[in-house]
Amino acid sequence: MVASLATRHGKRVALGPPLRRHLGLRLRVPEVDTDALGTFTGEIERPGPAEQVVVAKARLGMAAAGCAVGVASEGSFGPHPSLPWCSLQVEYVALVDDRLGLVVRERATSLASNHAELLTDGRDRGELLQFARRTGLPGHAVTVAPAVPVPGAAPVKGIVRVPALLAAVAAAATASPDGRARVAADLRAHHNPRRMAVIAEAGRRLARRVATPCPDCATPGFGLVATHPGLPCAACGTPTDLVAERVSGCGSCGYRRVEPVRPGAADPGVCPHCNP
Ligand SMILES: [Zn+2]
Ligand SMILES: [Zn+2]
Repeated sequence: MVASLATRHGKRVALGPPLRRHLGLRLRVPEVDTDALGTFTGEIERPGPAEQVVVAKARLGMAAAGCAVGVASEGSFGPHPSLPWCSLQVEYVALVDDRLGLVVRERATSLASNHAELLTDGRDRGELLQFARRTGLPGHAVTVAPAVPVPGAAPVKGIVRVPALLAAVAAAATASPDGRARVAADLRAHHNPRRMAVIAEAGRRLARRVATPCPDCATPGFGLVATHPGLPCAACGTPTDLVAERVSGCGSCGYRRVEPVRPGAADPGVCPHCNP
C-alpha cells in the first residue's frame, strides 16, 4: 500500500520506517508546496492551528500523488503553557485514509528544541557566535532576516557556516529600518536533526495507534485520548497533580476505556498536604 507524504523537508527519513514496519505503508513524496500552509520564518502565516493544518497538509499530498491514504506532520513552537520560560515543541502527525473515512492524529512533544532568536546589529560578534553555537551550527542551521520586515528582502535560510552567517547579518541589518537583523534557529526538519527526532517519535506513536483496532468496532486508531489527574497520596490520600487514570478512545464509534494507573498511589513528596 502506498501513502502520500506531503513534505519538502525530507521527513520520509523520520516517518517512513515506523509506518512501513507497523502498517506496511510505503511513502510517496509528491511535488507539493507545503509552504503554502505556513512558514516558520513568517512570510506565509499558517492558516489555522497545527493540529488542523496537519490534516489539510496530508490531503494536499493525497491530491497531488493520487493516493487514498496520506500522511503529514506539522510542528508548533511556543512558550510552555505552565513553564513560560521554556519553549515547547509539539509535533503533530496525521494519517488520513479516504477508503475507511479515517483521520488518526498523534503528537510528540519536546522541551529540548533549539527554537530561539536573536536581534542584533551584528557588531557584537561574540554574542552572535554564541547564539550560533547554542543553536547547534553546523549540524543545525539558522535563518537571517531584517528585524523589521522589508518588502523584497526574503529571509536567508539554511545557513550553517559562520562566514555566511556574518554576511547575511550584515546585509539584513543594512536593509532593516532599525539597523538590526533577526537571527533564528532554522526549524525546517531537514535542517534540524533535533526536531526530526521528535517527528520520528510522533511517527512511531502514529503507527502504533493506527495498528491498534477499537475493541468495540474494530476501526483502526484506538489509543490514549485523555488523562485525569488526582492520583491519591500514598500516606494521606489527598489527590495530587499526578495522572490517576488514562482514557483510551475510538475516533469512529466513541467507545472509551478508562484504566487506573498502577501503582495507584503517589509519593508523599508530591502531595500538597504532606509536602506543601
Ligand atoms: Zn470504535
Ligand atoms: Zn499526603
